[in-house]
Amino acid sequence: MSAPILRRLDALRATTRPWVRAGERIGVVPTMGALHDGHLSLVAAARAACDRVIVTIFVNPRQFNNAADLANYPRTEDEDARKLARFGVDALWVPDADQMYPAAFATTVSVAGLTDVMEGAYRPGHFDGVATVVTKLFVQTAATDAFFGEKDYQQLLVVRRLAADLDLGVTVHGCPTIRDIDGLALSSRNLLLSDRARTMAPRLHEEMEAVAQGLRAGQPFAALREAALTRLDKAGFTGTDYLDLRAQDDLAALEAPERPARLFAAAWLAGVRLIDNIAVD
Ligand code: AMP
Repeated sequence: MSAPILRRLDALRATTRPWVRAGERIGVVPTMGALHDGHLSLVAAARAACDRVIVTIFVNPRQFNNAADLANYPRTEDEDARKLARFGVDALWVPDADQMYPAAFATTVSVAGLTDVMEGAYRPGHFDGVATVVTKLFVQTAATDAFFGEKDYQQLLVVRRLAADLDLGVTVHGCPTIRDIDGLALSSRNLLLSDRARTMAPRLHEEMEAVAQGLRAGQPFAALREAALTRLDKAGFTGTDYLDLRAQDDLAALEAPERPARLFAAAWLAGVRLIDNIAVD
């Protein structure tokens, strides 16, 4: 059965009020739509853990630092609703823009530290936009649980931080990255890749795996990194914003995986920015 699509806050509150009164666990899956199997894995995790599931779809202008990226972002609401039909979702929260940001809106939620590097450094203002909208979504939906993908690992840590710091009472669950058969991490932006670029895109994950393998064999990160960057360049990538080895709890930069670590990358292919990360055990 299809979930009701709610666009106004009064309708959302009327829906959640009885759930809150009954003490039910409300699991929320925030998305920007153009849903793929990565998103759907979060919905399945929420369905398994919670009494009620709300999927939110909102292309949040405040987290885009590039007007063309916002304009080009894929929007497929009807198809999204169809994909969700078999998951037993209780409500789809697709807020009208004025419900999120009324004309006089003036508040920003900003997480320090974790946001200084990687996506925070390359996309100024991005995490303020994310933190602000996620805080609002948690409050609006009366969430007790929220489900985020490790695909956006830095975002997952930022959301955990803000939920704890602001006493939001939301348990933030991290879910593994879902990949296509060739290793490419699923992403709504993959829809923007040409057929040719799509065949080249898995190279990013391949090179990350090669670096991880070298690290496990005790090779120095700096040399592995340089070799991978050169190969990506030769393979047709038009720039790598970062290829970093970082601690998985606080994102401190590492030269070797001496504590639980992840490899993080953002790289450009045919005008599309791909990001990915993998654990290095
Ligand atoms: P987005 O719609 O891109 O903002 O993503 C919404 C949520 O889905 C975020 O928590 C993402 O981390 C998560 N997500 C996106 N791609 C994947 C993937 N390939 N596997 C798992 N989760 C994902």
